[in-house]
Amino acid sequence: MDGIEVSDRLWRLTLEHSPVGMTIVSPEGRFLAVNQALCRMLDRPSEVLLTLTFQEITHPDDLALDLELLATLLADKVPSYRMVKRFLRPDGEVVWGDLSVALVHDDDGSPLHLVSQVMDVTQQHDDRARLAETEARLDRQLRRAEAIFDSVDVGLVLIDADGRYESMNRHHEALMRVGYPDGHAGQAGQPGQVFGEDGRTPLTREDMPTWRAARGEEFDDLRIWIGVTAEERRALSVSARSVRDANGLFHGAALVYKDVTDYLRAMSVRDEFLSAVSHELRTPLTSVLGHLEIANELPDLPAAVAHRLAVIERNALRLDALVADLLEVARQREGRLSVTRTDVDLTDLVAQAVEAVRPAASLAGLSVVIEPQESLQAPVDPGRIRQVLDNLLSNAVKYSEPGGVVRIAVSPVDDEAILTIADEGLGIEEAELDRLFTRFFRGGEARSRQIPGTGLGLVLVRAFVEAHGGTVDLTSKAGVGTTVTVRLPL
Ligand code: ADP
Repeated sequence: MDGIEVSDRLWRLTLEHSPVGMTIVSPEGRFLAVNQALCRMLDRPSEVLLTLTFQEITHPDDLALDLELLATLLADKVPSYRMVKRFLRPDGEVVWGDLSVALVHDDDGSPLHLVSQVMDVTQQHDDRARLAETEARLDRQLRRAEAIFDSVDVGLVLIDADGRYESMNRHHEALMRVGYPDGHAGQAGQPGQVFGEDGRTPLTREDMPTWRAARGEEFDDLRIWIGVTAEERRALSVSARSVRDANGLFHGAALVYKDVTDYLRAMSVRDEFLSAVSHELRTPLTSVLGHLEIANELPDLPAAVAHRLAVIERNALRLDALVADLLEVARQREGRLSVTRTDVDLTDLVAQAVEAVRPAASLAGLSVVIEPQESLQAPVDPGRIRQVLDNLLSNAVKYSEPGGVVRIAVSPVDDEAILTIADEGLGIEEAELDRLFTRFFRGGEARSRQIPGTGLGLVLVRAFVEAHGGTVDLTSKAGVGTTVTVRLPL
């Protein structure tokens, strides 16, 4: 404190112990007195600071403004000034300080010295910079998300836990105008021009995708139709996912609506074409088979001709089976599959089916084993269940390798008949399992080994069993084997 006249001890104490940096500076800028807080902040001992001027420790970019403000102070235009500026530490580090400067005059009114206080605001400054950066990043992300939300060509909807629409993208707004020509109240479950997969049955509130999603249900590929006129009708495939917080509490749901109109129309054209073609094939094929029968009965057929006729007949029968499958699939698609039940002994049906497949099995080097079971009466359509058995046994044989065993069992469990057909064959890749019951689907192994088939067998098996009120399950492991379990209500 030497060199300055400060009489008041209290003032000295305040200066020394203040947490705020304090200094007395000559009008030219030389430090005349500094407190400990300032020394700590600038990382310089007082004896060093007292040899310096404030100009020397001010960041060059902030100096001009500081000097300009000082000039207005010295010219008595303002009583004090304040600025946030950067101070330089000896190691080159920057300290942000909130500086306020006042001018003390002597008795004649000329400038005597400057009294300055500096508060270290580096932390706040850094925090604010980080905050601004985070806000900018969030803003960028939000804009990006909004751009994606609005530009994707699927409808997107967010609903809250009470089923209120929180937001939807532009694509979905267009879909809403088709499904709700009279407007929508923004609440999940509002009935409108919205129909089930058949395109005819209006959806009730409880069937609406939004209603189900608002109840926490998650689903994929739920097919609905919207609109009434042929030009505006759209088929949509809807998926829903719940939105939950870190504690798993339900906050609402996100729904995605994908337009599958063209896909479904193409499918339906394909199915109609196949159904028409199979109908057309039926008549000439029946005629071929009829004439073959007559030809086979002709007396004195040369052996070579009889042999050729047998080949023709085998192939005509294969074609006939294929056409029959296609017609069944068409029937199933149109909901015209019927079952005529009578009481049948399932063990008899199994025995007959096994006898029918035995020639093919022994040709393939396989044995077929029936697990013993006493007679089991069931109210089923014998023709349909025979088709189920034939298809499953034929698959077990087709997709096995020589030496394998095919086991078939039927037994009553509670009020169901359980039929299992297990093979030790090629098995099915896990990735294919959920597509097996799709029309025309054929496994990779089936295609690469060129094992004949159409991809209709399992579809028909499921359709026939479900028409009986039963279920079909298939478990399989590639390279190990496949087991199909059919449950039929007794
Ligand atoms: P297809 O046998 O005419 O191809 P299916 O509908 O009966 O048609 O079967 C569909 C696909 O499922 C088959 O192509 C095959 O990949 C697979 N598959 C069915 N049964 C078996 C089985 N027992 N073992 C291995 N793969 C099977």
